[in-house]
Amino acid sequence: MNYPLRSAGWLLIYLLFILAPLFALILGAMPPARDFWTEFSVALGYAGLAMMGLQVGLTARFRYVTEPLGEDVIYHFHRQISLIAVGLVVAHPIILFVVRPELLALLNFIEAPWRARFAALSTYSLIALVIMALWRVQLKIRYETWHLTHIILAVTALVAGILHMVGWSFYLGDPWKRGLWIMLSVFWLGLLLYVRVVKPLFMLRKPYRIAQVRQERGETTTLVMEPQGHDGFRFSPGQFGWLTVWGSPFSITGHPFSFSSSAEAPDGRVEMSIRNLGDFTSSVASLQVGQRVYLDGPYGAFTLGQHSDMRVLIAGGVGITPMISMIRTLADRGDRQPVILIYGSKDWESITFREELAALEKEST
Ligand SMILES: Cc1cc2nc3c(=O)[nH]c(=O)nc-3n(C[C@H](O)[C@H](O)[C@H](O)COP(=O)(O)OP(=O)(O)OC[C@H]3O[C@@H](n4cnc5c(N)ncnc54)[C@H](O)[C@@H]3O)c2cc1C
Repeated sequence: MNYPLRSAGWLLIYLLFILAPLFALILGAMPPARDFWTEFSVALGYAGLAMMGLQVGLTARFRYVTEPLGEDVIYHFHRQISLIAVGLVVAHPIILFVVRPELLALLNFIEAPWRARFAALSTYSLIALVIMALWRVQLKIRYETWHLTHIILAVTALVAGILHMVGWSFYLGDPWKRGLWIMLSVFWLGLLLYVRVVKPLFMLRKPYRIAQVRQERGETTTLVMEPQGHDGFRFSPGQFGWLTVWGSPFSITGHPFSFSSSAEAPDGRVEMSIRNLGDFTSSVASLQVGQRVYLDGPYGAFTLGQHSDMRVLIAGGVGITPMISMIRTLADRGDRQPVILIYGSKDWESITFREELAALEKEST
């Protein structure tokens, strides 16, 4: 199936997962009707919860899902759709408080019933999550700390949201409706289990070993990694992977880096060239040959197009890494089509791969 068709297919499946459970609520036996705004606010709550649940799937790095769209599009979608989901969830109590002010008493955490406490917990977690996601840099929160907190808040919001829904249970009188929403909740939590337990277990069985640590121009270190006890994976030049060192694949945060080696390199060997730009990247140069690391990949839709395409590559700084992978791959494949590389760097000395690029240029003329 081609990429646009697959993308449209995934969008349809996404809409089905959000809207179908909502419409299912209005089928079959119904509870006594209430005023429009109460019903509307409840619908917003259900829709927001369904959207929140599927967020786990969006960040699960399912290759079949991300392939046609690209990882960056998926993350952008995750970010935007989260804001909409949080908007819906927060609108749910606000509308209720406006139309039925007596419900404001539920804000008293001590005296409120559990189902209302769960609603408050879910809403406050979501608000904290959004504030931290939008203003992480301004709040000076380390990426790793933010990532861990983000996951804790998201799981808290989701589980508390589910418990609130089950506790209130107004629309879930019908056993099949209850069954449907329970299955949906199990599916969301299953996704979480897959991302945090099952996938890392697979990675644990497929470790890599650092075969070489090479210093490059521009405060950049290349790690040459070889698969240990397995064949590794094949990637397209331009793609990237998530690297985990000093820990297991169960670590919360991996770091994304493009593969800089040729996709034709033998024995499943891959290279990543990492510029010293922060706390993790500054420690890469001290890695030792023989150290065990874990790679999750390949990901990304940014790669070489058709053989007949005109190839113009534009890179700045360490953005050269996917481009050098493309150039090395084309050279290894004996591809004689011209490539134009426009490459900016802050100074002449820090042009990573300068000598190799000059040599390849000479070879091709
Ligand atoms: C698809 C992709 C490909 C990349 N390829 C390369 C490459 O080939 N070579 C290279 O040197 N750099 C590459 N980067 C950038 C690299 O991932 C970050 O510079 C690195 O993760 C920063 O980590 P740090 O702890 O050293 O920096 P910090 O100072 O902790 O963070 C600097 C900024 O980097 C971002 N960042 C930090 N950690 C992560 C993380 N785990 N995941 C996502 N973003 C993070 C945050 O926005 C943060 O504010 C790539 C990034 C992406 C998204």
